Amino acid sequence: MLENHKLRMTKQRQVILEELRKVKTHPTADDMYQMLRKKMPKISLGTVYRNLEILSEANIIQKLDVGGTQKRFDGDTSIHSHVRCVDCGRVGDIDIKPNYNIEAEARKVTDFEIYRHRLEFTGLCPECHEKNIAVA
Ligand code: ZN
Ligand code: MN
Repeated sequence: MLENHKLRMTKQRQVILEELRKVKTHPTADDMYQMLRKKMPKISLGTVYRNLEILSEANIIQKLDVGGTQKRFDGDTSIHSHVRCVDCGRVGDIDIKPNYNIEAEARKVTDFEIYRHRLEFTGLCPECHEKNIAVA
């Protein structure tokens, strides 16, 4: 894993980081590309994708462990949980820490060396909940 101080911050990388930190939407590389194109018309999806991977390898941003077909990124590296809308895929923050007791529980019943666990809430976001009520 790269260390923070060794990561060279190119102009593009800096802008990608700044834009990601501005939003709470946990964008995919595609989402980021759409956001960045307005500012940097010449940027490519490949560049956005590669820089997001490099920034997450360096632990400057988080790559999320949430379900869905595309990886999502978070500019907030604090320890917190996420909830994913099963309808539109939107991901929100849930300000609770991982439950370390459950890791101790798991260690009691397995020969595996447990590192961590993954916690993901799923449900409906407010907009999709509204939509469902309207249809019903
Ligand atoms: Zn939704
Ligand atoms: Mn988050």
